[in-house]
Amino acid sequence: MSGQPACPFGAGEPALSVRQPWAGWIAAGAKTVENRSRPTGYRGPVWLHASAAQDLAAEPPPTAVNVALQPRALTRGAVLGLVELTGVHFDRGCCAPWGQPDRWHWQLRCMRLLDAPWPARGALGLWRPDLSATAPAGYPEDLLTQLAAGRAVVVRRPGLGWAWPAELAGIRKRYIGRPSALCNPLRIGPGWPRERVLAGYAAYFAGRPDLQKVARGLGGWALECCCWPLPCHGDVLAAVANAAEVGR
Ligand SMILES: [Zn+2]
Ligand SMILES: [Zn+2]
Repeated sequence: MSGQPACPFGAGEPALSVRQPWAGWIAAGAKTVENRSRPTGYRGPVWLHASAAQDLAAEPPPTAVNVALQPRALTRGAVLGLVELTGVHFDRGCCAPWGQPDRWHWQLRCMRLLDAPWPARGALGLWRPDLSATAPAGYPEDLLTQLAAGRAVVVRRPGLGWAWPAELAGIRKRYIGRPSALCNPLRIGPGWPRERVLAGYAAYFAGRPDLQKVARGLGGWALECCCWPLPCHGDVLAAVANAAEVGR
């Protein structure tokens, strides 16, 4: 692992199986609360898995009708993407229209979908997906096209879940997580959700011309961080690199 510290957003996040169409509505950002009979102490990224089973009795609240037919609501037996479990509380008549009475409300947000759903079997509660056999690629599908066009692309740091395939061994890669020179010094933690940390990084970056100079030279590089496919400070670096590329 070349001395890289354990990353809270590294491979190994748990997964949560949700029946359709609920999983698709969560993926669409329409459903922000999942009802469970038990709480969990875990907070952080969770793979959203669409169960093989379907909830045929599901009746969408009116707000969800427009997402009911989107393809992610039809995918079954597959991981759809990453969500962040931000909080868990017992029902107190809250979380309309999704929260159910006498259930634990698991709050989900801040999600990015995988380019292609990743087939996997589900389980009850939070479960550890076995990423060894069917690991999703740690990069966007059009990675090579983007790199060839001179763009910087944020990818997932290889680790427990996946490794660079042999055919991509030759691409230019740079690790941008901690403790690298391009890391985000701000950490996600209590009171510091991902969006706040990223906003803080943008402000920090704006005051660092030296980093901006480095970022302008990152076109054609794959930027490895723990976050992908979640939003990442690497998105700031890539945006600067790609703007520099366009201006060239
Ligand atoms: Zn609630
Ligand atoms: Zn990151």
